[in-house]
Amino acid sequence: MNMAYEFNKKVIEHFENPRNVGMMKDADIVETVGSPVCGDMLTLYLKIKDDRVVDVKFKTFGCGAAIATSSIFTELIKGKTIDEALKITSDVVVGELGGLPEKKVHCSVLAPDAFEKAIKKYRERT
Ligand SMILES: [Zn+2]
Repeated sequence: MNMAYEFNKKVIEHFENPRNVGMMKDADIVETVGSPVCGDMLTLYLKIKDDRVVDVKFKTFGCGAAIATSSIFTELIKGKTIDEALKITSDVVVGELGGLPEKKVHCSVLAPDAFEKAIKKYRERT
């Protein structure tokens, strides 16, 4: 079974051209999470201003699904307020991508999870 069979076009497109990849030197918050299931690791860099996500970058050692879901997640939260961005759950991410193979759905939890943890830290600090 090859990737083209399992993943739809939008997932593959984000996997091949992920948005907002890289690191951010002046990030306000950096959060790393991992998935024990397929060994994915994700680091999320966030820049917050007036309770709004003004910039976001990510780096991942992850499978194709982790890359695609993180990519679309960063697109979805960029420019949103923290509270709006917290509503972008893995369900929203999978929906935006037009679905994921069942066994890859756990990978879509990484980015929302990292974001939630990052915001918790950020709010404790400010
Ligand atoms: Zn994965």
